[in-house]
Amino acid sequence: METPNNTSSGGDSKTQKYKAQYQAMDADERGLFAGWMRTFSYITGIGLTEAERVSYVKEKTMKDDLRNCKLCESWRNEMLKTSPIVTFMAGHLKKSGFAVSAKNMPCIKCNEMRMGGFSDQGVIQLCYNHLLTKGTLETTIVHEMVHAYDQANFNLDWYNLEHHACTEIRAASLSGDCKWFYEAMRGNLGFLKHHQACVKRRAILSVRASPACKSEKHAEAAVNKVFKSCFTDTRPFDEIY
Ligand SMILES: [Zn+2]
Repeated sequence: METPNNTSSGGDSKTQKYKAQYQAMDADERGLFAGWMRTFSYITGIGLTEAERVSYVKEKTMKDDLRNCKLCESWRNEMLKTSPIVTFMAGHLKKSGFAVSAKNMPCIKCNEMRMGGFSDQGVIQLCYNHLLTKGTLETTIVHEMVHAYDQANFNLDWYNLEHHACTEIRAASLSGDCKWFYEAMRGNLGFLKHHQACVKRRAILSVRASPACKSEKHAEAAVNKVFKSCFTDTRPFDEIY
């Protein structure tokens, strides 16, 4: 005679109750419940073997990547149609011979702590794993578009640190990386100094990441040397001044 595996009584009545509830669930509910139990076990560290923990993390990362990538792509497509600043820049890029489209603006996974990038091959990269809001995506797109504009219109040498500093100053200033810019535009000059300090700090950080940059001081010197002329060059946004 087979021994039933549910012969225990007394203290196990709760387990029996949960088992009965579980069996009463439909397939979808059981799936949700099993997923929730795995998450709970992962958070508490109870009931998961090391192999299960690794597989849980892998599966969760894949799901997050897929969701974030799709979100980045749908926001990007929306911005290309409806964002005034993105469509303004896209128009000027088109006139400069750089046709912006979803194809040359891929959403990718980035290892470094960056929001996006621009390759001199004409690709604007958007880091879906670091872009948390529509606002940061819009700022990132415009930042990289300013680099694309500079490359299309000026004789930009990315390995010349002063050239690099100039385009980073313009990108940080014009993209909204430093939100005080918008206050300055409204005539609130009290914000202008903060804006300049922010632009300088961000440009130094970007230039520091260049393989052509030897040190923090090297980056600072390049940014300081070109700051005034590049900060005041607001093309293609001339009309706001
Ligand atoms: Zn940049």
